[in-house]
Amino acid sequence: MSIDIKSLRDSEITELLKSWNVPAFRAKQIRNWLDNGVASFDEMSNLPAALREQLKEHCRIPSVKIVRRLVSAIDETTKYLFELEDGHTVESVLMKYKHGWSQCLSTQVGCRMGCSFCATGIDGLARNLLPAEMIAQIEAAQKDRGIRVSSVVLMGMGEPLDNYENVLRFLEMLETEGGVHIGMRHVSLSTCGLVDRIYDLMNEDLQITLSISLHAPNNELRRKMMPVARRWTVEELLAACKAYTDRTGRRISYEYAMIDGVNDSDACAHELVRKLKGTLCHINLIPANSVAGKDQKRSSKTRLKAFTDILTAGGLNATVRRTLGSDINASCGQLRRNQETGAEQILPG
Ligand code: SAH
Ligand code: SF4
Repeated sequence: MSIDIKSLRDSEITELLKSWNVPAFRAKQIRNWLDNGVASFDEMSNLPAALREQLKEHCRIPSVKIVRRLVSAIDETTKYLFELEDGHTVESVLMKYKHGWSQCLSTQVGCRMGCSFCATGIDGLARNLLPAEMIAQIEAAQKDRGIRVSSVVLMGMGEPLDNYENVLRFLEMLETEGGVHIGMRHVSLSTCGLVDRIYDLMNEDLQITLSISLHAPNNELRRKMMPVARRWTVEELLAACKAYTDRTGRRISYEYAMIDGVNDSDACAHELVRKLKGTLCHINLIPANSVAGKDQKRSSKTRLKAFTDILTAGGLNATVRRTLGSDINASCGQLRRNQETGAEQILPG
């Protein structure tokens, strides 16, 4: 097994070189190349040829290749399908906001959480992404569009807390100066609610925003939609969120996909108010996307409005998420499954 050198810390690269009797200053040179997004050791032109050969023999640099790209004609939202070295593909979406570009990253190939409404989970989990493969998604998008990404959301394919170690290492790399250099205050992590891992994350004392895919106000309904709700109750999940807020001072963001006739009744809204009132949170109502093979439909505009009004009247901070890139079906998990779409632009060109 060759070593994924890009995911190593500087000190770990130094250690590796030391075991080869290579001086420590080479580690810094290698890191600079890696931070610049090189895809091969041959490009590391200031290293001796012998060292480059040794690196080639023992190490590799995980990278992603753009295999498809869809650009929204409406708002420049850009959706990528990236191919990994082993041929698996993952999606990522770049969104333009007033304050800059935000990128939604994948953390796994597929997902094993099996939520009923989600496209990503249909085929289960193929594998975890490496820290370097998460960084590479940002580097590839920045290079492709000639922009800088200023915030990151872990809301693409996969359950980030089910790939905990790699995601934490990725966050550490993200912050490092010289690399993509994005601070934790500009990172959101979305989870279906792995309660034990939420406590672990809390104990890391990071300043990231926690997004919880809640989608239902009670256990009965949530268990029908999300298998993870059989492992932890809504009450246990909300207790973990409260602990997270108490510790970090960060407001929790709850995601609620509005699915017609499933979780969008007035009664659901009132129950949500009772459960969340008094907590430091924001509720993101997402008109559910249809998924091939599932018969779910998004709630109507009037239903969305009525639901939002109940939450707001109950004192909660709730908004309907702006749909970006509606012409390219920009939500994740869809492109990989849906090879036919109108706004297509095939790369590389
Ligand atoms: N696994 C993590 C993050 C990836 S999913 C999580 O579940 O939070 C990203 C977001 O998209 C989650 O809030 C998820 O619930 C939501 N989502 C999944 N399928 C959807 C669909 N068909 N319509 C709307 N939102 C969906
Ligand atoms: Fe996995 Fe999130 Fe999809 Fe659930 S919603 S199957 S946790 S990616």
